[in-house]
Amino acid sequence: MNECHPALRFRFCPYCGSPRFTWDGEKSHHCADCGHKLYTNEVGAVIAVITNAEGEVLFVRRRFNPAKGTLDLPGGFIDLGERAEDAMRREVMEELHLRVTRADFLCTLPNTYVYDTLMYHTIDIVFHCEVEDWSALRADDDATECRFLPLENVDVEAVGLDSVRRLVGMLKQGEIKIK
Ligand SMILES: [Zn+2]
Repeated sequence: MNECHPALRFRFCPYCGSPRFTWDGEKSHHCADCGHKLYTNEVGAVIAVITNAEGEVLFVRRRFNPAKGTLDLPGGFIDLGERAEDAMRREVMEELHLRVTRADFLCTLPNTYVYDTLMYHTIDIVFHCEVEDWSALRADDDATECRFLPLENVDVEAVGLDSVRRLVGMLKQGEIKIK
Protein backbone atom coordinates (compact mmCIF):
# COMPACT_ATOMS: atom_id res chain seq x y z
CA MET A 1 0.00 0.00 0.00
CA ASN A 2 1.19 3.52 -0.82
CA GLU A 3 2.76 5.18 2.26
CA CYS A 4 0.56 8.26 1.67
CA HIS A 5 -2.68 6.25 1.86
CA PRO A 6 -5.00 7.44 4.68
CA ALA A 7 -4.87 3.90 6.12
CA LEU A 8 -1.22 4.59 7.05
CA ARG A 9 -1.35 8.37 7.51
CA PHE A 10 -4.29 8.62 9.93
CA ARG A 11 -2.97 7.10 13.15
CA PHE A 12 -5.10 8.78 15.84
CA CYS A 13 -8.85 9.11 16.31
CA PRO A 14 -9.87 12.71 15.41
CA TYR A 15 -12.58 12.57 18.10
CA CYS A 16 -10.72 11.33 21.20
CA GLY A 17 -7.06 11.15 20.09
CA SER A 18 -6.75 7.42 20.75
CA PRO A 19 -3.98 5.54 18.89
CA ARG A 20 -6.27 2.47 18.81
CA PHE A 21 -7.59 3.69 15.48
CA THR A 22 -7.56 1.02 12.79
CA TRP A 23 -8.28 0.81 9.06
CA ASP A 24 -10.86 -1.77 7.96
CA GLY A 25 -8.95 -2.67 4.78
CA GLU A 26 -11.57 -1.05 2.59
CA LYS A 27 -12.87 2.46 3.30
CA SER A 28 -13.00 3.44 6.95
CA HIS A 29 -11.15 3.75 10.23
CA HIS A 30 -12.64 2.64 13.54
CA CYS A 31 -11.71 3.83 17.03
CA ALA A 32 -11.56 1.05 19.62
CA ASP A 33 -11.95 3.58 22.47
CA CYS A 34 -14.79 5.99 21.54
CA GLY A 35 -16.28 3.92 18.71
CA HIS A 36 -16.00 6.66 16.09
CA LYS A 37 -16.02 5.47 12.50
CA LEU A 38 -14.27 7.73 9.98
CA TYR A 39 -15.07 7.06 6.32
CA THR A 40 -12.71 7.91 3.48
CA ASN A 41 -14.75 8.81 0.39
CA GLU A 42 -13.94 10.04 -3.09
CA VAL A 43 -13.28 13.77 -3.29
CA GLY A 44 -15.03 15.56 -6.18
CA ALA A 45 -12.98 17.29 -8.87
CA VAL A 46 -13.74 18.63 -12.35
CA ILE A 47 -11.97 18.50 -15.72
CA ALA A 48 -12.84 20.75 -18.68
CA VAL A 49 -12.34 19.52 -22.25
CA ILE A 50 -12.48 22.83 -24.14
CA THR A 51 -12.53 22.65 -27.92
CA ASN A 52 -12.24 25.32 -30.61
CA ALA A 53 -14.02 25.42 -33.99
CA GLU A 54 -11.32 23.16 -35.47
CA GLY A 55 -11.96 20.51 -32.80
CA GLU A 56 -8.57 21.07 -31.15
CA VAL A 57 -8.41 20.68 -27.36
CA LEU A 58 -7.10 23.40 -25.04
CA PHE A 59 -4.27 22.03 -22.87
CA VAL A 60 -2.45 23.70 -19.98
CA ARG A 61 0.91 23.07 -18.30
CA ARG A 62 0.86 22.39 -14.55
CA ARG A 63 2.44 25.05 -12.33
CA PHE A 64 2.45 22.93 -9.16
CA ASN A 65 3.07 19.41 -7.96
CA PRO A 66 1.89 16.72 -8.30
CA ALA A 67 3.24 16.34 -11.85
CA LYS A 68 4.53 19.93 -12.06
CA GLY A 69 5.45 20.98 -15.62
CA THR A 70 3.45 18.25 -17.37
CA LEU A 71 0.59 18.61 -19.82
CA ASP A 72 -2.86 18.81 -18.24
CA LEU A 73 -6.45 19.83 -18.83
CA PRO A 74 -8.00 22.73 -16.91
CA GLY A 75 -9.84 21.78 -13.73
CA GLY A 76 -9.57 21.35 -9.99
CA PHE A 77 -11.31 20.42 -6.78
CA ILE A 78 -14.93 21.21 -6.02
CA ASP A 79 -15.30 23.48 -2.99
CA LEU A 80 -17.61 22.61 -0.10
CA GLY A 81 -21.23 23.25 -1.06
CA GLU A 82 -20.33 24.02 -4.68
CA ARG A 83 -22.02 22.44 -7.71
CA ALA A 84 -19.66 20.53 -10.04
CA GLU A 85 -20.71 22.64 -13.06
CA ASP A 86 -20.01 25.83 -11.10
CA ALA A 87 -16.60 24.49 -10.00
CA MET A 88 -15.76 23.77 -13.66
CA ARG A 89 -16.75 27.31 -14.72
CA ARG A 90 -14.79 28.83 -11.82
CA GLU A 91 -11.65 26.81 -12.59
CA VAL A 92 -11.78 27.66 -16.31
CA MET A 93 -12.12 31.35 -15.42
CA GLU A 94 -9.25 31.20 -12.88
CA GLU A 95 -6.84 29.28 -15.11
CA LEU A 96 -7.72 30.67 -18.55
CA HIS A 97 -9.91 33.78 -18.11
CA LEU A 98 -12.56 32.18 -20.32
CA ARG A 99 -16.31 32.10 -19.83
CA VAL A 100 -17.80 28.70 -20.69
CA THR A 101 -20.94 29.22 -22.78
CA ARG A 102 -22.02 25.61 -23.07
CA ALA A 103 -21.08 22.48 -21.13
CA ASP A 104 -22.04 18.83 -21.60
CA PHE A 105 -21.30 16.07 -19.12
CA LEU A 106 -18.88 13.52 -20.60
CA CYS A 107 -17.87 10.95 -17.97
CA THR A 108 -16.30 10.44 -14.53
CA LEU A 109 -12.89 8.97 -13.68
CA PRO A 110 -11.64 7.84 -10.25
CA ASN A 111 -8.08 8.80 -9.43
CA THR A 112 -5.64 9.30 -6.55
CA TYR A 113 -3.89 12.60 -5.85
CA VAL A 114 -1.07 13.03 -3.33
CA TYR A 115 -0.93 16.44 -1.65
CA ASP A 116 1.49 17.12 1.22
CA THR A 117 2.14 13.36 1.66
CA LEU A 118 -1.56 12.51 2.00
CA MET A 119 -3.31 10.55 -0.73
CA TYR A 120 -6.76 11.79 -1.73
CA HIS A 121 -9.09 9.46 -3.62
CA THR A 122 -10.74 11.70 -6.18
CA ILE A 123 -13.59 11.37 -8.67
CA ASP A 124 -12.98 13.57 -11.70
CA ILE A 125 -16.19 14.80 -13.34
CA VAL A 126 -15.48 15.59 -16.99
CA PHE A 127 -17.29 18.21 -19.09
CA HIS A 128 -17.00 19.09 -22.75
CA CYS A 129 -17.03 22.89 -22.87
CA GLU A 130 -17.59 25.48 -25.55
CA VAL A 131 -16.44 29.09 -25.42
CA GLU A 132 -17.61 31.95 -27.66
CA ASP A 133 -15.20 34.73 -26.73
CA TRP A 134 -11.50 33.79 -26.70
CA SER A 135 -10.16 37.36 -26.43
CA ALA A 136 -9.18 37.12 -22.75
CA LEU A 137 -7.41 33.74 -23.06
CA ARG A 138 -4.20 33.49 -21.05
CA ALA A 139 -2.78 30.95 -18.60
CA ASP A 140 -3.02 31.91 -14.92
CA ASP A 141 -3.34 30.45 -11.43
CA ASP A 142 -2.39 26.73 -11.54
CA ALA A 143 -1.38 26.87 -15.22
CA THR A 144 1.88 28.22 -16.68
CA GLU A 145 0.87 28.07 -20.35
CA CYS A 146 -2.00 27.05 -22.54
CA ARG A 147 -2.34 25.94 -26.12
CA PHE A 148 -4.69 24.21 -28.52
CA LEU A 149 -3.55 20.82 -29.72
CA PRO A 150 -5.18 18.49 -32.24
CA LEU A 151 -5.77 15.24 -30.29
CA GLU A 152 -3.91 13.15 -32.89
CA ASN A 153 -0.73 15.17 -32.14
CA VAL A 154 -0.92 14.81 -28.35
CA ASP A 155 1.62 12.50 -26.72
CA VAL A 156 -0.54 10.79 -24.09
CA GLU A 157 2.58 10.01 -22.00
CA ALA A 158 3.28 13.75 -21.67
CA VAL A 159 0.09 14.12 -19.62
CA GLY A 160 1.05 14.03 -15.94
CA LEU A 161 -2.06 13.03 -13.99
CA ASP A 162 -3.31 9.44 -14.32
CA SER A 163 -7.00 10.18 -14.83
CA VAL A 164 -6.29 12.97 -17.33
CA ARG A 165 -3.89 10.68 -19.22
CA ARG A 166 -6.60 8.00 -19.37
CA LEU A 167 -9.14 10.57 -20.49
CA VAL A 168 -6.90 11.95 -23.26
CA GLY A 169 -6.17 8.38 -24.39
CA MET A 170 -9.89 7.58 -24.55
CA LEU A 171 -10.66 10.82 -26.43
CA LYS A 172 -7.83 10.08 -28.87
CA GLN A 173 -9.06 6.51 -29.47
CA GLY A 174 -12.64 7.70 -29.88
CA GLU A 175 -13.81 5.68 -26.85
CA ILE A 176 -15.29 8.92 -25.55
CA LYS A 177 -16.76 11.13 -28.24
CA ILE A 178 -17.06 14.90 -28.11
CA LYS A 179 -19.79 16.37 -30.30
ZN1 LIG B 1 -11.89 7.80 19.41
